Amino acid sequence: MPSNLGGYYDRVEWFETYQHKTSNVWNGLREVPNKVWWWKLVWYSENIPKYSFTNWLLCLGRLPTRDRLYSWEMLDEDKCCYCQERESNQHLFFECQYSAVVWRKLLMYLKEYHDPQGWELEVR
Ligand SMILES: [Zn+2]
Repeated sequence: MPSNLGGYYDRVEWFETYQHKTSNVWNGLREVPNKVWWWKLVWYSENIPKYSFTNWLLCLGRLPTRDRLYSWEMLDEDKCCYCQERESNQHLFFECQYSAVVWRKLLMYLKEYHDPQGWELEVR
């Protein structure tokens, strides 16, 4: 039944060439964000979902590190449990002496001979 909406009438049309796919409806309803450069590091066919999810949060800077939990008043302090400096993504993976040892061993295993750098530099 046609209705008048502000001077415009609704109408039903049938398109002969239209092929109904659920993906067309999904893509029509959602806002498609721009792809980020690191998406293939996180989402790939052999991924382990738990690790990909953690990696995704890391890339977005959304891991629940102690500095974030402290800012949400969920912890009493934001100190790293290994060195007592402020724990952030950058600290946890690159600045803490403990994690630096782990990174160096991992880089040696991968035959990458350099000191660990920040996330942005390591993944490029
Ligand atoms: Zn530390």
